[in-house]
Amino acid sequence: MIPSATSNKATTASLKRHNETLLLREIYAHSAISRVRLAALTNLSRPSVTELTQNLIKRGLVVEVGPETQTDRVGKKATLLTFNKDIYQIVTATINDVVLTTALLDLRMEVLEQRSVPMNGATSMALVDALSDLIAEIVPKATRPLLGIAVGTPGVIDMRAGVIQLATYLEWVNVPLARILADRFKVPVCVGNDSNLAAIGESRFGTAQNVKDLVVLKVGSGIGVGILAGGHLVEGNAFAAGELGHTPFPTLNALCLCGRRGCLETAISGWSLKRRAQDIVRSHPASLLARLSDGADVTISNIRQALEAGDPQCTELVTSVATYLSQAIIIILHLLNPQMIVLTGSMVGLGDRFLNQVRQNVKAWAFPYMTEGVEIVANEQDERSILLGAGALLLERELGL
Ligand SMILES: [Zn+2]
Repeated sequence: MIPSATSNKATTASLKRHNETLLLREIYAHSAISRVRLAALTNLSRPSVTELTQNLIKRGLVVEVGPETQTDRVGKKATLLTFNKDIYQIVTATINDVVLTTALLDLRMEVLEQRSVPMNGATSMALVDALSDLIAEIVPKATRPLLGIAVGTPGVIDMRAGVIQLATYLEWVNVPLARILADRFKVPVCVGNDSNLAAIGESRFGTAQNVKDLVVLKVGSGIGVGILAGGHLVEGNAFAAGELGHTPFPTLNALCLCGRRGCLETAISGWSLKRRAQDIVRSHPASLLARLSDGADVTISNIRQALEAGDPQCTELVTSVATYLSQAIIIILHLLNPQMIVLTGSMVGLGDRFLNQVRQNVKAWAFPYMTEGVEIVANEQDERSILLGAGALLLERELGL
């Protein structure tokens, strides 16, 4: 088929846009770079680089920062280009355990403002309203136009449509969160699963930079797994890849929040840990854990303190958590053979003694070849990696970065 003049034009325009994005990615990846170097890195001709970078300068995304200190040709100093991180700002938000957090970021993902409020037991549409109201508090703090809003939440999420299909403990079923927020704030909105966004955030801006085979295992209120395989996010056929929490384990039998028995979550989630710690307090009122919690709800930090002091009931409880967490990690290792597993979520707060026990179990129980070359690291800053991952998702959607 002979292409028409119109489709030729369209092809030329889309090719230009594609090449412009290629250049923008290289400029974003460097603090400052010359056009000559850009041509070498992208295999584009120098006249093309000149024309396309001129467009990027017109769009305000790139600025010239004066001549470089080293010459690339005798006597001629090249002008350097740099990414304009202040052309837009980004608002990100997340629901993490029982806290809602929102942040204002520049385009280099530096946090300019951040605020958090307790969830106060809100679920369903009341939770959507609480999240939207918190975002409304930070939007006026922006000093530049907003590129958009990006939100990371637990649940099975259709990222392209911005719809939360299912988030059990938030009581969300088919919530079109992106549309709801876009209608209110009149900017582009994207929504992603918190563990998936944490994986993106860790690999682009966090502890796992440039790790292509990465798993983020988040154990907070529930269990979330974010998977990057070969640098690509694994979402699954119905966006539920990594929903490990409701995997039945034959050695477990307790009732889960999902209504079934024996799910992994009944052994290692924040809610199950709290439930079992409360049982210890009731059955052993003279225990250290009971004294530390002093009539209030048992916290992770209470459990950690009692564990470190050698409290026998607490040691038994944490040993059981470590056992099941290790088994979850072993399944992940055998299935995906990652380079790094980042453990995040409130469970990390149980401390080094717990984490070392998990590492030892994994080493002792996994098929030896599977544990070679894999790093298991802990990151208590999971909220930060979700917020940065949300920002990265928006950068990719809106600017191709
Ligand atoms: Zn379950």
